[in-house]
Order: sequence, then structure tokens, then C-alpha cells
Amino acid sequence: LLFVHTSPVGAAGEVYKDPNQPVEARVQDLLQKMTLAEKIGQMTQLERENMTAEIIKNNFIGSLLSGGGSVPKTNATAKDWVDMINEFQKGAMSTRLGIPIIYGIDAVHGHNNVYKATIFPHNVGLGASRDPDLVKRIGAATALEVRATGIPYAFAPCIAVCRDPRWGRCYESYSEDHTVVQQMTELVTGLQGDAPSGYPEDYPYLGGKTKVVACAKHYVGDGGTVKGINENNTLIDWKGLLDIHMPAYPDTIRKGVGTVMISYSSWNGKKMHANYDLVTTHLKGVLKFKGFVISDWQGIDRITYPEHSNYTYSVEASINAGLDMIMVPYNYNEFIGILTQLVQKNYVSMSRIDDAVARILRVKFVAGLFENPYADLSLADQIGSKDHRELAREAVRKSLVLLKNGKNSNSPLLPLPKKSGKVLVAGSHANNIGLQCGGWTITWHGTPGNNYTTGTTIFDGIKSTVDPGTKVIYRNNPSDKFLKDTKFDYAVVVVGEVPYSETQGDNLNLTIPQPGLDTVQTVCKNIKCVVVLISGRPLVIEPYLSDMDALVAAWLPGSEGKGVADVLFGDFPFTGKLPRTWFKRVDQLPMNVGDAHYDPLFPFGFGLETHPAAAAKAQ
Ligand code: BGC
Repeated sequence: LLFVHTSPVGAAGEVYKDPNQPVEARVQDLLQKMTLAEKIGQMTQLERENMTAEIIKNNFIGSLLSGGGSVPKTNATAKDWVDMINEFQKGAMSTRLGIPIIYGIDAVHGHNNVYKATIFPHNVGLGASRDPDLVKRIGAATALEVRATGIPYAFAPCIAVCRDPRWGRCYESYSEDHTVVQQMTELVTGLQGDAPSGYPEDYPYLGGKTKVVACAKHYVGDGGTVKGINENNTLIDWKGLLDIHMPAYPDTIRKGVGTVMISYSSWNGKKMHANYDLVTTHLKGVLKFKGFVISDWQGIDRITYPEHSNYTYSVEASINAGLDMIMVPYNYNEFIGILTQLVQKNYVSMSRIDDAVARILRVKFVAGLFENPYADLSLADQIGSKDHRELAREAVRKSLVLLKNGKNSNSPLLPLPKKSGKVLVAGSHANNIGLQCGGWTITWHGTPGNNYTTGTTIFDGIKSTVDPGTKVIYRNNPSDKFLKDTKFDYAVVVVGEVPYSETQGDNLNLTIPQPGLDTVQTVCKNIKCVVVLISGRPLVIEPYLSDMDALVAAWLPGSEGKGVADVLFGDFPFTGKLPRTWFKRVDQLPMNVGDAHYDPLFPFGFGLETHPAAAAKAQ
């Protein structure tokens, strides 16, 4: 009964089309009807750009994606997305067996490729909240926004355990500590829904048309590479891999995660994309994962150097390692041709192909795609809804970590008074939605522009929070003279990193980028200042800390800047705790909680609370 859909639309004699049949029976029925070409098509996932319904139909393509910031057009609406996806789906549904495609997208902090969607704080900030229920609610809101555009599949959560902040993807990791990451796997239940009691453990689950299939990524050890170099080598013994990088995977599997994505990185020199022991023996065997394993973008091409140089090997090694779906083979004709030959010559067995296709079909049946292949616009008003923005604002409040408050403990600066004469807001990041959202927002690297999506900046938030009589003035990089000539009561300086994604974000220095650092120094030497740091990770701040009266780590808060003002002015307390160790110098890295030579500037778990007396005064 568990796998029974209620609508009675099955055609007589076609077990796989009958929603009243158990999923496994449908999978087996369909599988035995499929040709090799139809099976290999299912295993192929292509990018939407340059895609047509014809290509999908002729090659029996199983899946499409929007990679990075690949959107149908600038400022695309829900209707644009739904129309595009339905058009592709027509290609799939007009094949002999009518197997629907599953369309996937990187919705990693809300539906971040979509104009006007709610953008939640990046994972590092959610790690600071230590609030799994919040993360679950974010998952549910994200699922609604993703489904509103006709998409049933999100490449999230990233459950990397980032051990070195020099890694450009550190902000996609909830924490350096696997127990925090494990708590945050609640995103899976938010995205997919809670399975009813009695539903078999370890079996993929999806709670209907308002939910999306999740993807635990990147299996495994992506956050453990040497010096945090992206896609590099994770040098660690088996016990270390199991104890640090692995624990969140069984959690997601128990929650019914539909898919797992393989990491570009290597483990002790062996590419994960070709690792039979980790993919087949451990993930599918020991951990009993029953959904499908997807490669990363052209991940199999990178098994050999130079990329694609030995494609036959890449295809054989990855499929035999246990990968089920290949994301964007660089040339799909070549991929399909090579895999077909490998099967014909018995270098890849038919049972391996059947395992891959059964897993893909299982997820598609569970997701209800055979019953509901086409999307409609019934959820369109969910995109950027008031409720979701309210939730994002709550998440911002809970993600902020107060690192310093006052030059000494008797002179706290926070919470800031709402009633004052003149207040300065300074810094490049104070009035810019793009900068506060970070990478993976509309474009892949994120766009530092101001008006490319909707929300509130931190400056907007401050203006709407202070008393009407308080004058708030914004200057990006005010001069010494301006600061001396104008009498300000205090300043809020908002600076930080410029958006980046993946390898582009790898950084060995981790300094506060200029001109932000200049702004901090100029403002703080003239006026009492609170520095709000926008960054995907801790940065080198020790040399400048004594200039600052107060310091708040705001991570990458997303579209709702008002959440920052809520806490700065004491309407809500600071509750965030560091999800990462704050180092003094980069030569200490990697340095994680529990290390023998632990000598942090602020330890893992640190976070001040607003001084109680001052908090009372602010009310
Ligand atoms: C990233 C993945 C992402 C994929 C699809 C890759 O470059 O490593 O995290 O899901 O692209 O956009």
C-alpha cells in the first residue's frame, strides 16, 4: 500500500503505467520493455541550453538541468520556466514508452536561479543558527518555489564538512563539525517531506507535488581537500573519512534522500567518480542507498587528464564504479556511443545498466512523474512570497554571530539605539542585494549588482528600524574629511567578500578585500563603529579587531537584509554560534575544533549575547 498512488489511471496490461501497482513492480515491468538505447538515454542528463524536445525524444534522454546560473531568459517568470520545461517534457512523453524526464536545478539557498525568488542565507550561516527546524522550514519553502517553476528536483543539500576555509565552496558547508552538518540534513525532510510512519527506511521518498527530490552532495570528502583546493585530493585514512566526512550521508539516506551526487575530488589520489569501493560497496551496499547516484557536471571527463582525453576509460570506470546518471557528458553522442559499445563488448554488464536504470525509474515513480509529468502555474504565487521572505528574515537573525561588543565589557555598543541624531552606514556591502546574497545567485558566481533581484538591503533595514527622527546617511567609502566634518553618533560598516563560486573562490590569503578594509579603518578611527562582515568564511581580522567597537559575522545573508537590522537594534537577540573556528592567521590552517594545536581567535561555538543591561536600555 505504501507505494500506491490513488488516482486510477492505469492502462490495462501496462503494469508500469498503473499507479495502483507497487513501485518495484512498475520498475521491473518497464525495465524489461526497454531497449539498450532507451536505458542509456535514461542515464544521460543534459543542460537545457541548446536543448530541444527533438533531441530528448530521439535520444530517450532521462534528465535535464539548469546548471549554475542557466536560466531561460533574464528575469524569467514562473510561466517562462514552466513553459520551457513542459516543452522538453513533451519530447520525453512522445517516446515509445513515454518515460518522463526529471528536471534538476541548483536550489542551494532558496530557488537561487530564479528572479524574485526568496534567497536564504548560505549554509554557513544556517550552521550558525544550530536550528534544524528552521532549516527544515527553509527546505519546505524552497520546494514550493522550485515546484512553482515546474521543477521536481534540487541539487541540495551540500553536506560537505569544510575543514579548510581556503576552499572556495566553504560557504556551501554548514560547518567544520560533522554533528552540525548532520543536524542540518533536516533540509532533506523539508525539501522532500516527511515519510509517513511505516514507510520503509532507506527507500526514496517524495511527499507529492509541493515537494522536490533532494540530492546529498558531494560524495564524499569534498570538504577535506589539501589546502582547501577545489576538486583536489582528500588525504585521510578510512577511519577519518568515516568519522568526519561520511556521517551525514546515512542520515540523509534514512530520511529517504532520492539522489546522491559524486564529488569531483579524489580520496587518497583516487577520483571519487571512479571509486567502486566508495560508490558501490559502501554507498549502495553498506549504507543501503536505493536512489540514484549522479555524477557532477562533466565529472567523468575529469577522471583522466587532460579532460576527455581517454573518454572510453572515463565512461567504463565511472559506470562500473556505480554511477547511475551522468550529468552533462561533454558530448552526449560520444557518451551514448561509447557506453553502448562497452555493453555490447561486455566491459559494462547489462546488470549494471539495469541497476542504474531501475534506480532512476524508482525515483521517477516515487516522485509521481508518470502520473503528473507536466507542470502548471498553480504554485506561481509562492515565488518570493511574503511568508518565505519572513522566514528568510528569521533565518538571517538566527545566523548572525556577535564576535565583539564594546572596546571593553563595560561599554557595549550593541544593541544600537534607535533614537539618535545622525547615523552613518558605510561600506560596499551595506546597500547591495547582490553582494549580500553571494555566489549561486541568479548567475553562477553571483552578481555584485544591486537591482538584479528583489529584497531588502541592510541599509534599507536600518532605515526602516530607527526612529523617524534619526537621520541615516549612506556613504560607500567616506573620506576622512567628511567623517571629521559631520558629527555621527555611530557607524555601521558593512564590507566583505565579493561573490564567487567553486574554484574561483579558492583563496590562500583570506584578507578582507579592498576597498572594504580601508573603509573599516577610516571609519572606525573617527567614529564608534560596528563592523558587519559579509563573507562565506572567517577572514583575517585579528590585526584590525582593536579598531572596531563591535563586530558581527553575517555570512552571506541573502535577500532579506532587514534581518540584520532586527538584531543590531535589539528587536531580537543574538543567538548564532560560530559553525567554524575563527583562525588568527592563515598559516594556522587547517585548524578545526578538537585539533591538538588549537589556538583560535574565536573558538568553534563562540558567540556573544547582547549585554543584558544594554538590551534592556534599547527597549
Ligand atoms: C557543482 C555541483 C552542481 C553542478 C550543477 C557543479 O559544478 O559542483 O554542486 O550541482 O555543477 O550545476
